[in-house]
Amino acid sequence: MLQQLESTYQQAAAELDALTDAAALHDWESRYIGKKGAVTLLLRSTGQLPKEDRAAFGQRANAIKELLDTAYAEREKLIQEQALARDLEEGQIDITLPGRAHPTGGLHPSTQTFRELYRIWGDMGFQVYRSRDVETDEMNFTLLNFPEHHPARDMQDTFFTKTEGVILRTHTSPGQIRSMRELGADGAQPVRVILPGMCYRNEQVTARSEMQFHQLEGVVVGKNIRMSDLKGTFVEFARRMFGQEAKVRFRASYFPFTEPSMEVDVECFLCGGQGCRMCKYSGWLEIAGAGMIHPTVLRNGGYDPAVWSGFAFGMGPERQTILKHRIDDIRYFWGNDLRFLEQF
Ligand SMILES: [Zn+2]
Repeated sequence: MLQQLESTYQQAAAELDALTDAAALHDWESRYIGKKGAVTLLLRSTGQLPKEDRAAFGQRANAIKELLDTAYAEREKLIQEQALARDLEEGQIDITLPGRAHPTGGLHPSTQTFRELYRIWGDMGFQVYRSRDVETDEMNFTLLNFPEHHPARDMQDTFFTKTEGVILRTHTSPGQIRSMRELGADGAQPVRVILPGMCYRNEQVTARSEMQFHQLEGVVVGKNIRMSDLKGTFVEFARRMFGQEAKVRFRASYFPFTEPSMEVDVECFLCGGQGCRMCKYSGWLEIAGAGMIHPTVLRNGGYDPAVWSGFAFGMGPERQTILKHRIDDIRYFWGNDLRFLEQF
């Protein structure tokens, strides 16, 4: 039995020296020095030996048990230290790794164009006036000289609400009346504002027309405001927007709220007036509708048309963006597709 004890000790000590993880150590403990471990069982069987051998065997067995307990404690400490060192090493931050890029937001192309327009018109002395999206039929049409049942109302397919006489504005022009009434102080003060905002029309959505789009309206009211002021303003605007060489032309048109009315074209900056797909080979791009404010509209805004006069215009920032970036489908603007938006 003493021989068995010695060989068990040799084996246990050898195995312990080779252990490197906590699970294996725990297994070793139960096999050798635990309650039912080999050394423990040998120690307990001391009583089965002949009397004369008991003392020597018991002494040796106790010594071995103590040696193994101590060795076990040392090994346990060592394994814990190694595990800690490994954790620290693995958890270390490698400062040579390239950083992970976080996705950043950007400004919508329409917002970018608006900001450029604000800057240009602001430099030319225009204030920004914000008007409401939900309008009355009266503001949107009647006060702008669209008589009831006038065919001009059919030019703009309207979104109606459940409330009689309340609609989504089809253009930013109702802001003309609101800005004149508010800032003009009942026809006593001049007004020079731009009115940016979203407009809504119940139209078939195609590559060229959307149900919602932005407009930027402009209103100037003062004494002795003439057609030449309107023309000079647009010549200056075109230079600031499209460059010093920009050429502008005016074509007669019709809007109920201006008289005379005109379309404003700028020489195509893509082909330099030579004719291309964007300008439909005309050499000109339409950038705005404009005109002298109709006396009826001036009166509805609180002014005496015998004393005051003014001009108004409207332009589409989406159209400007389309021309600038050669975008071929207006539906991209409100499609919320990041593949489109991230290009700007
Ligand atoms: Zn062109």
